[in-house]
Amino acid sequence: MDNIFGLSVPELEARCGALHIPAYRAGQIAEWMYRRSADSFEAMTNLPKKLRALLPSVFSISRAECVERWDSADGCTSKFLLRFVDGVTVETVLMRQPYGNSVCVSTQAGCAMGCAFCASTLHGVTRNLTTGEMLAEVLFIDEMLRDGGQKVDTMVLMGSGEPMMNYDNVLAFLRLVHAKYCLNMGYRNITISTSGIVPGIGRLEREGLPITLSISLHAASDALRSELMPINRKYPLREVVAAGKAYGEHTKRRVTYEYILIRGVNDSKKDAEALSSLLRGQLASVNLIPINPVRERNWERPSKERVNRFLAMLEEYHITATVRREMGSDIQAACGQLRNQHIAESAGFD
Ligand code: SAH
Repeated sequence: MDNIFGLSVPELEARCGALHIPAYRAGQIAEWMYRRSADSFEAMTNLPKKLRALLPSVFSISRAECVERWDSADGCTSKFLLRFVDGVTVETVLMRQPYGNSVCVSTQAGCAMGCAFCASTLHGVTRNLTTGEMLAEVLFIDEMLRDGGQKVDTMVLMGSGEPMMNYDNVLAFLRLVHAKYCLNMGYRNITISTSGIVPGIGRLEREGLPITLSISLHAASDALRSELMPINRKYPLREVVAAGKAYGEHTKRRVTYEYILIRGVNDSKKDAEALSSLLRGQLASVNLIPINPVRERNWERPSKERVNRFLAMLEEYHITATVRREMGSDIQAACGQLRNQHIAESAGFD
């Protein structure tokens, strides 16, 4: 069955055209699916009865089902394990921030990048998510918030997966989220986080959209970065930073560099110096993230004093930097942790 959830209006028009259904019906169907939470054609009461009866024989509307939910003790972070029709599960996180509701979206089930500190990649990548599946993640949260008179305000593609390895679906998803008939979200409210896929960054730059780019750096030397992030062997540090610089200059958007702090690994004065000289002169800021230790790995976070010292050193070198507000570590909100637990439990070895 042809699942139409996640199609844009022009795509729906083409589907309708093939069935000799007037094109304007596409807009109505989109409105029902994306703004009015319809998950059946029966609910689309402004379509003629005959059409409502025909549509389910050719199309399905397949969204996501929530199989587990965790809420942090402070109530600010909620994490959902969503399941798609083929049984594949992903994590989606809602963060209630002072500036609004932010959703952290997964772009792949699992991840192939192999970063040493990340739980998402432990089982490799299962598959890319479709445009409709990513939309189902955000709409699931948005519909829940709508009940309380709220909505999703911002979105970060920082869940499991490498967005640039699923480029076409990700871009179609962002265009859909931006569309008036869907969430009408400004591109400025959207952040894509990448492990540094240089051609992907270049492609995104050429789209000419004011999307915020975030690059996971985590080390300021090639030797260490290659150890932490194997993708560095393909796209080394200098190329990644050059791509970030070009993106910032072209889009006039400040690029964020994420830097996980791992005790005794990348948190010394020398590291801060190297990081500063790498980013000097760029429209950039550094987001320091004390590592969320994953039990499958042996990394520890530095003390608060050491984190603050690292921050102060960057500031001394005139690099704009912040320490990420910690959210949801009591509910295993670090990438991929929840899904792994679920996989382990279903496999019966937890
Ligand atoms: N693949 C993309 C997006 C997903 S990861 C990327 O690499 O950017 C989102 C962010 O979470 C990345 O910066 C990643 O490095 C970070 N992350 C992964 N595991 C983490 C952990 N254990 N503690 C803190 N941050 C982590």
